[in-house]
Amino acid sequence: MSIKLIASDLDGTLLSPDHLTVSPRTVKALREAHEKGIKIAIATGRTLSMIYDVIDQLPFADYVIYSNGAAAYDLKNARLIYSQPLPQEITADIVDYLEGFEVYYEVYSGGKQFNQPDKQGFFKTLNLPQEFLDDYIKKLYFTEHLADFAKQNVCEKVNVYYFGNPALGEIKRHFEQDERVFFTSPVEGDIEITLKGVDKARAIDAICKELGITQAQVMAFGDADNDLGMLKAAGFGFAMENGDEICRREARFLARSNAEDGVARAVERYALGKKPRLLVSACLLGENCKYNGGNNKNDAVIALWQDFEIIPVCPETFGGLPIPRVPSEIIGERVCSKDGADLTAEFLSGAEKTLYIANEKNALFALLKERSPSCGKGRVYDGSFSGALVSGNGITADLLMKRGIMVFGESEIDKLLDEADL
Ligand code: SF4
Repeated sequence: MSIKLIASDLDGTLLSPDHLTVSPRTVKALREAHEKGIKIAIATGRTLSMIYDVIDQLPFADYVIYSNGAAAYDLKNARLIYSQPLPQEITADIVDYLEGFEVYYEVYSGGKQFNQPDKQGFFKTLNLPQEFLDDYIKKLYFTEHLADFAKQNVCEKVNVYYFGNPALGEIKRHFEQDERVFFTSPVEGDIEITLKGVDKARAIDAICKELGITQAQVMAFGDADNDLGMLKAAGFGFAMENGDEICRREARFLARSNAEDGVARAVERYALGKKPRLLVSACLLGENCKYNGGNNKNDAVIALWQDFEIIPVCPETFGGLPIPRVPSEIIGERVCSKDGADLTAEFLSGAEKTLYIANEKNALFALLKERSPSCGKGRVYDGSFSGALVSGNGITADLLMKRGIMVFGESEIDKLLDEADL
């Protein structure tokens, strides 16, 4: 069954840990998916007015499911396609009850987030990145009498914050027993109240109906209990590695954390069918580029073509050295051949060319020949040309690692497969 819709939560999922930015890799993967005809939906507990800067980063996005699924909005046609607000009598009961406690609450109405101006200072006490909090406060709407406002307007959601409040248990029990509402607690110290039956999964149902597809064709990502319904309903439901335990246990698939571009990695693999790209020392693949004109052919390395798109590299020949050539080793800051020639410039040039190829091909991994003065990782020959080893990296392996490429030796294939989620 092919994927036709990707729906992703924001905080802890699609957004980087700063709660503000979508990483370049994630933007690229989603853009490519969209170009393949896959629709993109943001599915968040936030309200519409709080996420326009995210939409700016994903201008191709098709839908926004907001307020935990109380509404679904078609961005391309600027229309609400699904809405399940709280009936006004229920909102009135909720705010009347909350007014009896020293709690901070906010009301989501018409895609906007309303607060009381005298409660602004509350946000400063939240344990969240300062840049995020400053940005958050800028997007709030304020109304002097929030309870009256809530009773007079159609509301999608009420958020209650009870950090350190001794009434926590009582408030939670009250809403647990109110059969008219549904509440989640995606962040510790916060409960989010919507109408019973509201869930991101139901809003996705509405989008599926518009598109003429089924949940089996949906790929969904989330990290918290307000994502659980969506993750269980989707054919490809991914819990983030950094997510709640219940999400990780219940979802069919696990994605890397948001700090590690988990959404992008899964989209690349399952929606775009891409194999990760892997630089490999050409001599390991059987190419006769070794100093003596031979190779280091390794069948286990060659077999990796099934899981990776392999890019052969030989930094020493890239640096202009001939085949065959006099062997070289690292001696202090220099690389010298056994007959005393200083070949540091050639080795550095070969490393730069290899890095250029890695960047051009967007390779995230490299599997390189161990112990080589170019390709070795962790241990290299010690400069005595006696076969003795010393701690250190080859010139190319070192440069690739410094530029964020994960380097493995041929004895670390299992580690490589693990890192690449294979
Ligand atoms: Fe193999 Fe690397 Fe030496 Fe080339 S530079 S022969 S790829 S170990």
